[in-house]
Amino acid sequence: MNNQPLLIYNTLSRQKELFRPLHEGRVGMYVCGPTVYGDAHLGHARPAITFDLLFRYLQHIGYKVRYVRNITDVGHLEHDADEGEDKIAKKARVEQLEPMEVAQYYTNRFHDAMAALNCLPPSIEPHATGHIIEQQQLVRQILDHGYAYESNGSVYFDVEKYDHDHHYGILSGRSLENIKDASRELSGVGEKKNQADFALWKKAQPEHIMRWPSPWSDGFPGWHCECTAMGRKYLGEEFDIHGGGMDLVFPHHECEIAQAVASQGHQMVHYWMHNNMITIDGKKMGKSYNNFITLPEFFAGTHPLLTQAYTPMTIRFFILQAHYRSTVDFGNDALQAAEKGLARLMDGWKLLQRLQEGQKTKGQPQVEMKYVDDLRQQCYDAMNDDLNSPQVISALFDACRIINTVNDHKASITAEVAQAFADVFRTFAFDILGLTENSGASNKEREEAFGHVVDMLLEQRMQAKAEKNWALSDKIRNDLAALGFEVKDTPDGFAWSLNK
Ligand code: ZN
Repeated sequence: MNNQPLLIYNTLSRQKELFRPLHEGRVGMYVCGPTVYGDAHLGHARPAITFDLLFRYLQHIGYKVRYVRNITDVGHLEHDADEGEDKIAKKARVEQLEPMEVAQYYTNRFHDAMAALNCLPPSIEPHATGHIIEQQQLVRQILDHGYAYESNGSVYFDVEKYDHDHHYGILSGRSLENIKDASRELSGVGEKKNQADFALWKKAQPEHIMRWPSPWSDGFPGWHCECTAMGRKYLGEEFDIHGGGMDLVFPHHECEIAQAVASQGHQMVHYWMHNNMITIDGKKMGKSYNNFITLPEFFAGTHPLLTQAYTPMTIRFFILQAHYRSTVDFGNDALQAAEKGLARLMDGWKLLQRLQEGQKTKGQPQVEMKYVDDLRQQCYDAMNDDLNSPQVISALFDACRIINTVNDHKASITAEVAQAFADVFRTFAFDILGLTENSGASNKEREEAFGHVVDMLLEQRMQAKAEKNWALSDKIRNDLAALGFEVKDTPDGFAWSLNK
């Protein structure tokens, strides 16, 4: 345990607090994971990388961390999370698949993208569909405590009653009055006493394929239930950290707090942490802007807004160059600058490894051990100040300048100092920031990755064909042909070769 005084910003108290875990030496951390009905995009990459940084750092400073990140495979509806069709069921209907085929397919692809970004897998990855009983128990408790009501086979959380006894809106800083004003009239609202009430259990319409029996109706859990039920199951009635993107503060996390207090009488989470959002060329990501660039599209460079492909490490480095609580704007120029910056850092690392035997240059100043100690402390201070990764990166850039002066024979370094220097660099760049040296990937690794990218494109083409989107399917085939790929349709899919 190296006793770093870690300050983290708590969304709930709106200030930085010294992190003190509930149990000595152990940390429980829950992060909201993806709804698996489509490929992960940048909006998923940022929380994944932010909380990977936290996970890595907590472990580095000696904590045993139980990191739970869920997979939402039921209950996330299209509008306001609470109304409309289930996102996964809709995809399954359109593509004539079993909903769990959709969920599995996108879960696998999410895992591939996370591995490419070098995000460590969580300790537990529970699925909402695997925890229907726990969610029903939660609904039962809330009903028993009088904070929910049954209506036409569905169960809704009674926000007004809760707000009267506790306070609804403590996380987002909203009051019930302005929540009510902001809610829109939607279909099915006749079941609710109040616009602001949210679904704990929804009765399934006859055509709804994802359904489970319950005391109230054949139906499915409301989206907010899963994180409260699964967080409690795996981390306990109280645990240390709950994280996610800032877009989840309201309503998702606000509802989670209300569910926890209504069911168990006290809050569940000590530190709420939220990463800020990503804009693309200054615009919010949204369907109307057609700027939902998926991670596979980034890695292959296939989205019209991209002028080139970007490696997963460039994306990771780019995200870490901003503090997680500031907004980040993605654009090709900024990404290309990140690509160059990452290459510069890796060049510095390669030189530093060569210097580990020490290098004497007569009459030139020495790099002292104090310099390395200061660098290490600077990096720890930055991380301890609410995970200030941009400051760590800037300290490493400064370190690259020192490495270059030694390499240019303008300074000397002893083997002992060079090794300590390399140790600090390796610890912060690779262990904590989670960068990899993949700028130096072997040819075999490159070839494999390249093959996967072509496969991914051809899978997109098959999907386009299935959806009768001939324009896209022809475009993928023609673009690949222009690059010298021969694509053949086979009875069980496709085959390709590179004829050059
Ligand atoms: Zn959640």
